[in-house]
Amino acid sequence: MQQRFLPDFAPTRQAALAAVARVNPVAYSKTRNFLDGAVTYLAPWITHGFVSVREATQAIHQKHPLNFDDKLVFEFAWREFFKHVHGELGDGILKDVRRPVWGGRYAGDMPTDILEARTGVAAIDAGVRQLYETGYIHNHTRMWIASYTVHLRKVNWRAGADWMYAHLLDGDLASNHLSWQWVAGTFSHKPYVFNAENVRKYARHLDCSGTSIDTDYESLEATARSKRDVGPERGVQSMGVDVPGLLGCGADFLEELDRLDVLPELSGAGKSAWVDARQLGADGISWLNRMQLPDDAAVRWVHPWDLGCLEKQDGAFKIGILDAAFHAEHPWNARRWRFVLEPMRRHCQSILVVDSRCTGSMDQLREALMQAGISGDIEHTLNPGYKQLHQALPARWRKQASLLPNPGSFQQSFSRFYREATAMAGSLDEALGEFELETQQP
Ligand SMILES: Cc1cc2nc3c(=O)[nH]c(=O)nc-3n(C[C@H](O)[C@H](O)[C@H](O)COP(=O)(O)OP(=O)(O)OC[C@H]3O[C@@H](n4cnc5c(N)ncnc54)[C@H](O)[C@@H]3O)c2cc1C
Repeated sequence: MQQRFLPDFAPTRQAALAAVARVNPVAYSKTRNFLDGAVTYLAPWITHGFVSVREATQAIHQKHPLNFDDKLVFEFAWREFFKHVHGELGDGILKDVRRPVWGGRYAGDMPTDILEARTGVAAIDAGVRQLYETGYIHNHTRMWIASYTVHLRKVNWRAGADWMYAHLLDGDLASNHLSWQWVAGTFSHKPYVFNAENVRKYARHLDCSGTSIDTDYESLEATARSKRDVGPERGVQSMGVDVPGLLGCGADFLEELDRLDVLPELSGAGKSAWVDARQLGADGISWLNRMQLPDDAAVRWVHPWDLGCLEKQDGAFKIGILDAAFHAEHPWNARRWRFVLEPMRRHCQSILVVDSRCTGSMDQLREALMQAGISGDIEHTLNPGYKQLHQALPARWRKQASLLPNPGSFQQSFSRFYREATAMAGSLDEALGEFELETQQP
C-alpha cells in the first residue's frame, strides 16, 4: 500500500529542499495521523544530514509562519528530545530504560511471519511490505508494527527495533530505539496498544476485522501484561515476501559493499574505490600522497549523517569515512547503503574505512594524518563508533545545528523537555535567529 504521494527519496540536497518546499503545516496538523495525510516525508533526508531540522523549519517558517504551538514544530521537537535522551544515556538507549510491562521472557528473534508479511493482520503485513519496497513507513504504521510485535507476539523490543532500523531509510538509533521503547512501555508509563477500530479510523482500506486486534483496549492491555502470544492468524494463504538482505555486517565489509551496483565512481584524483585504514599501516602516507591534496588543503570528513555538506561548494576536500564496527552492530539493507554511498562516491575524493574497535589501526591513521599535516572538520554525531573518531582523526568537531536549545539538565519526559527548551529559546523567531538557508547548488 502506498501513501498519498511518496517521493522517490533521491539522495541529494536538492531533493531534500524540494521536499521542504512542499510542506504545508496547516494540512499537516489536521491530517498527519492518517496514512494518507499530508506528512512531510523529510525523515530520510534529515537523518542523513541533507537538511537539518533547523534549516527545514526556517524555510517552512518563511512561507507559512510558525510558532511553538504548531504541530509540526512539536514533532520536530520530538526528534530533538530523543537526541537529548541519547546524549544523556549514550548506549543506554539500546537497553530497557525502565522495567518491561510483563515480567516474563520476551523472544529474542522476530517471528518469520512478521518478517515475511504474512501475519494475516492487514495493518502489519501492508506496513512490512511497504517498508521493504520503499524504505519509508508512516508513524502510525511504525507504532502498530511495534505494538503488535512486542505486546501481542511477545518479542523483545530490541529485536524489532534492530530489524526496522535496518530497513528504514531514516533509521536513527535515538528516534527508532526510543520509540520502540516508548511503545513497549520501557520508556513510558504504559504499553501502547491499538485495535482494528483504530486502524479503520486512520487507514480505512486496511480491514483488520476478525483478527487478534479486533477487540477492546482493556483486553489488549491485559494481553500486553501477560505471557499470551496471539500468534499469526489462522489459515493465512499468502506466501509472504522475501526479506531484503543486510550488507556490511560480515567479516568482509568492503567486499559486501562492492557488490552494490550502480554506484558512481569516486570523484577524486585517486579514484581508487576505497581506502581500508584498518590495514593501512606504513602505507598511510602513500595513500595520502595519491590523493594529491595541496598543502594546507581544507578537508571535510564526511560521515553518513552529514551528507548535505557534500554538495556545498566551500572549497573543502571531502573525504568519506565509514566505521565498520558501527555497521557490524547496526547493519543496513542495500537500499539504505545506496542512499548513503551514491552521494558519498559522487562527491568524495576518497572513502576511508576504519574500525573503531581496533585502536591500533586508529592510532596509525592518526599518526599518518598528523605527519602529513592533515586535519579538517567533522560534524558531531552520537552514533557509537563514529563518535569515537577523534581517536583516528586530528579534526575540529562541528556542533550539529539544532532547532531548540538543549536543556541544561536531563529531561526524561517530552513535555518537560519542550517546556524547558522553548522557555530557554523565548520564541521560534529567537530560536531560529539570524539564519539564511543555503540553496546554492553545485
Ligand atoms: C516504532 C517507531 C520507530 C521509529 N523510527 C524512526 C527512525 O528510525 N527514524 C526517524 O527519524 N523517526 C522514527 N520514528 C519517528 C517517526 O515515525 C518518523 O520520524 C516519521 O514517521 C518520519 O516520517 P515523516 O518525515 O513523513 O514524518 P512527519 O510526520 O512529516 O514529521 C516531520 C519530522 O518530524 C520528526 N518526527 C515526527 N514524528 C516524530 C517522532 N514520533 N519521533 C521523532 N521524530 C519525529 C521527524 O524528523 C520527521 O521527519 C519512529 C517512530 C516509531 C513509532
